[in-house]
Amino acid sequence: MKCDDNPMSKEHAAPRCTATSKRTGERCKGPAVKGWTVCRFHGARGDHGPGKANPAYRHGMRTREWQEMRKVINDLVRIEKEIEDLISD
Ligand SMILES: [Zn+2]
Repeated sequence: MKCDDNPMSKEHAAPRCTATSKRTGERCKGPAVKGWTVCRFHGARGDHGPGKANPAYRHGMRTREWQEMRKVINDLVRIEKEIEDLISD
């Protein structure tokens, strides 16, 4: 390696992002994330999927299933209150 070799030249040989800018219409020149065809600005590693695969997963009480369950329970409670109101008249 020559002394005046640019240490960044290796980085620029990395695969490029395939995204196209909506603003300029030009191809993104950012380096693609390993295993992706796009750079980190264009959604690489963006989708972790639902449930335990998601890094935001903590205790499982906020999963889509549980949110749905809570909604059903809240509906039942609301209906129950409405019935109570009807009966108490
Ligand atoms: Zn990009």
